[in-house]
Amino acid sequence: KSFEELKLREELLRGLSVMGFHKPSKIQERALPLLLKNPPQNLIGQSQSGTGKTAAFVLNMLSRIDLNTKQPQCLVLAPTRELAKQIAGVAKIMGTFLVDKGLEVFEAVPQSLPPRGVQVQGQIIVGTPGTVMDLIQRKRQLNVRGIKVLTLDEADNMLDLQGMGDQCKRVKMLLPKDHQVVLFSATFPPMVLDFAGLFAPNANQITL
Ligand code: AMP
Repeated sequence: KSFEELKLREELLRGLSVMGFHKPSKIQERALPLLLKNPPQNLIGQSQSGTGKTAAFVLNMLSRIDLNTKQPQCLVLAPTRELAKQIAGVAKIMGTFLVDKGLEVFEAVPQSLPPRGVQVQGQIIVGTPGTVMDLIQRKRQLNVRGIKVLTLDEADNMLDLQGMGDQCKRVKMLLPKDHQVVLFSATFPPMVLDFAGLFAPNANQITL
């Protein structure tokens, strides 16, 4: 299957071609048709880094956002700032041709936070659970009322870090009821399985 056949919007096809992605990787081929279904369905994916999972969940978000508003609509939680920046970078490059239509991607990492009192803007927000939680609840700078997609990357690594699983749960509780959950993890030991089941009920599941 080609990216064209996945019915991605034209600006995204152009973005993919600029990146040199000419055909979907295996995980993209399997995940994208499930991710893009309407009404949205949850997805739990097992895949290592290097398989192209980032593009899969980024394309899902870029396909679902409303560019007529800068209100946050998709939230990505990742275990490290480094990974959060990488994911935001992929979203910006893939969305190159949506920028003049209003696309904004925000990296919720300590170095790029807005001054106190200023609201975070951008359809896609990427950060570590602690920083995101803090922005929503303590600082009240991130309005999550418009969030419709929650993506968790490297869930196994997040659960290995003290307190991060709980922070993810707390963030999720603050989101509107009806949101799509996309969870990727390289491994699924029992703790991650339990967590994934809680986070993404009735999810489609793919393993690579
Ligand atoms: P990831 O697994 O998301 O970390 O991606 C692994 C690497 O594969 C990255 O360097 C991507 O740029 C590259 N990549 C992802 N999808 C494709 C694709 N469809 N065609 C070519 N390269 C890709």
